[in-house]
Amino acid sequence: MQFRSLIGGRWWEGGRATVNENPSDLDDPVGTAYEADAEAVHAAVNAAAAAAPAWGLSGPQQRFDVLDRAGSEILARREELGRLLAREEGKTLPEAIGEVGRAGQIFKFFAGEALRQGGQVLDSVRPGVGVEVRREPLGVVGLITPWNFPIAIPAWKVAPALAYGSAVVLKPAERVPGSAWALADILHRSGLPEGVFNLVLARGSVVGPILVERPEVAAISFTGSEGVGRRLAADCGLRLKKLQLEMGGKNPLLVLDDADLDQAVNCAIQGAFYSTGQRCTASSRLIVTAGLAERFAAALRAATEKLVVGHALEAGTQIGPVVDGVQLESVERELELARQDGARLICGGQRVVRATQGHFLQPALLEVTRPGMRADRVEVFGPVATLAVVKDYEAGLALANDTEFGLAAGICTTSLKHAQHFKRHAQAGMVMVNLPTAGVDYHVPFGGRKGSSFGPREQGAAAAEFYTTVKTAYQCA
Ligand code: ADP
Repeated sequence: MQFRSLIGGRWWEGGRATVNENPSDLDDPVGTAYEADAEAVHAAVNAAAAAAPAWGLSGPQQRFDVLDRAGSEILARREELGRLLAREEGKTLPEAIGEVGRAGQIFKFFAGEALRQGGQVLDSVRPGVGVEVRREPLGVVGLITPWNFPIAIPAWKVAPALAYGSAVVLKPAERVPGSAWALADILHRSGLPEGVFNLVLARGSVVGPILVERPEVAAISFTGSEGVGRRLAADCGLRLKKLQLEMGGKNPLLVLDDADLDQAVNCAIQGAFYSTGQRCTASSRLIVTAGLAERFAAALRAATEKLVVGHALEAGTQIGPVVDGVQLESVERELELARQDGARLICGGQRVVRATQGHFLQPALLEVTRPGMRADRVEVFGPVATLAVVKDYEAGLALANDTEFGLAAGICTTSLKHAQHFKRHAQAGMVMVNLPTAGVDYHVPFGGRKGSSFGPREQGAAAAEFYTTVKTAYQCA
């Protein structure tokens, strides 16, 4: 397969070819991606800027039709696109098919939102004057997405951008060009006017500065690492460019003495290790109160050791490979640093040999032996979780909140009082009770606090906040 950029309604020719690797099987190349250069990225911005005014004036029916058609095709092809996604990113086939389904549902949701856009009509405080408040499109938006959700994250940025009338330049992560290309191909055939949606398969270091510097780009939405996010914040701040950031997480799951043990272990395993732990909402900090600590730790260890790590496409695999060799080494380095810092390895953390050559790693559990350890602070972005024991709920809540991140937080308890208190006092954008911290709906806001997020929320009706600008119009009769 060949993955190319889509610029002004045309597939861009040329560019350096790179083979897209399958992390489950290094002998199974997924396809060849052609890397666009700076000139191509400028051309994409030009195309979007040329297409934006007309798209901004398009009616809700046209936007609904495009988004609904794209959503239907994604849903109809979820198995095939799921295979492509599983091959290039490494999550298991059921997880990948689920993600593709999610992308389809997101397009369907925002098709509806295009029809539901409304404003407010008010009387002015001055007699004889009327006031209208409405949302208008931004113009051109730059979207930068990571590799861990190669179709869902592009979908949850692209769909609202188009629904609310903006033109798009999408830059997906270099490791996952195939899913983004597939999405571009679908949008290309969806009835969208040329140039409204542009895909650039190019390096972040090339695309970032162009999106920041070109005045035609009104806003940037970024999901990725904290380092890049902070740099974008500084650069966009200087230029007063609208920005939305979703960055790291180090999400606590607090398990209380009165929790249902099986449910708590299940939440911990799913939240910490599914999708190979490569989720910004992963439950990477497990905290248990003393009364249940021994039983929880034993059951958790047994369940962790039982997890089947293997080829993403093989039936029965629960945990796919780490996305690539660089990430695998980074996870192993964090495990080593954790040990040097005094964390105790409870189980896992070793490479796993399978029939195919891939980046397989047994999920690892680390016991936190003192507060503030590196293992409990730094996001690993892999199948690694820490376990800490606290004396009671209050100590658990304090520890859960003792992080520079604030994306998701979870609690397992049968106490209504503690569940209620935790929902109020967890310092996170999303709180889960008796559920893993990962696994969110698409029709409600997504986002965090503190070092995890910046700017308005993504997804659901809240997405309008970022993807539109508000106009207040006064008229004298
Ligand atoms: P991750 O490790 O989760 O992929 P990154 O921040 O490295 O996080 O990457 C997220 C996205 O940001 C990718 O699409 C990447 O290419 C892009 N990116 C990397 N460097 C820059 C940059 N300087 N400016 C803008 N985007 C960048």
